Amino acid sequence: MPTTTTIGPTQLLIDGQWVDSLEGETFATFNPATEEKITDVACGGKADIDRAVQAARKAFETGAWPEMDARDRGHLLYKLADLIEENADELAALETLDNGKPLSMAKAADLPLVIDCFRYYAGWADKIEGKTIPIRGNYHCYTRHEPVGVCGQIIPWNFPLLMAAWKLGPALATGCTVVLKPAEQTPLTALRLGEMIVEAGFPAGVVNIVNGFGEVTGAALVDHPQVDKIAFTGHYETAQIIMRNAAQTLKRLTFELGGKSPNIVFADADIDAAIEGAHFGLFFNQGQCCCAGSRLFVEESIHDEFVARLVEKTNAQILGDPFEAATQQGPQVDQDQYDKILSYTASS
Ligand code: ADP
Repeated sequence: MPTTTTIGPTQLLIDGQWVDSLEGETFATFNPATEEKITDVACGGKADIDRAVQAARKAFETGAWPEMDARDRGHLLYKLADLIEENADELAALETLDNGKPLSMAKAADLPLVIDCFRYYAGWADKIEGKTIPIRGNYHCYTRHEPVGVCGQIIPWNFPLLMAAWKLGPALATGCTVVLKPAEQTPLTALRLGEMIVEAGFPAGVVNIVNGFGEVTGAALVDHPQVDKIAFTGHYETAQIIMRNAAQTLKRLTFELGGKSPNIVFADADIDAAIEGAHFGLFFNQGQCCCAGSRLFVEESIHDEFVARLVEKTNAQILGDPFEAATQQGPQVDQDQYDKILSYTASS
């Protein structure tokens, strides 16, 4: 493990406080490059989810967040983006340690996108408008956009901090409060982000972070009657389970699931650029992208040459320690994903 990487908090963030799980449970998170344990983090159970939801509910119902002046909500999101920017190198290193992506990529892609995302949604906080509606008679008819309430947010491990930003940014800008459940493979950067959320001055309970496993911690969030909405990114079969379970309490749902996004290359294309694009589309982030270009249609007349050159480029890819500057591809996030990919290549 690089000695310069700071691990950050390992507890649950509930109601602005760092706490252990009520049952005292923890789970280990591993460095995918070495398979060494990095640290143990608190593992939230059903009762911890309940505590976190109560805290989010209180921050919502008392108006601490939804009734804050929209400009002030925006300012806090800008402040959070500034803190992330000030600590970008440290966060990138933590992401690389926990996820295995090359540090160069975490610095060039993940962190700038996270910062942009929070700034983008900070700008929205005071620009959410309703409509005036011309109805017959002497009436003033208008709509207002109200926050949904308490949002449960369940995210995957491929871009841990960016997925947190994509979920938190819009929910916070619109005045919702949140219980975030990061992926069990990559719990660390969300916790460090939680520390920055506290430092920025967000009121207690607006963002609660509860690590744990999907079938227990994630499921408890989906089942909880005081959660108004679940936003989920991950596997489509998990989304099917979430949709079925959330139906019991009629929750709103937003899903961002995977795809098999095709690239199409015709014979008159700029072949050098097409090879670069197809290679990047498939191998960026070790191929662990919802929109990875994992299907390639190539016009027959250039097929053999194109495939040969793409294979050559792929074989030249530098695999290795994600902290090494020269490394272009790090490890898969864990053994399960590694085995899954090998099973795909074996079946093709
Ligand atoms: P992947 O196959 O990419 O790991 P998953 O859909 O299994 O995708 O996991 C994405 C997120 O969903 C993780 O945070 C995981 O803990 C969570 N999750 C998994 N199963 C459930 C479930 N039954 N209910 C709620 N969340 C779940």
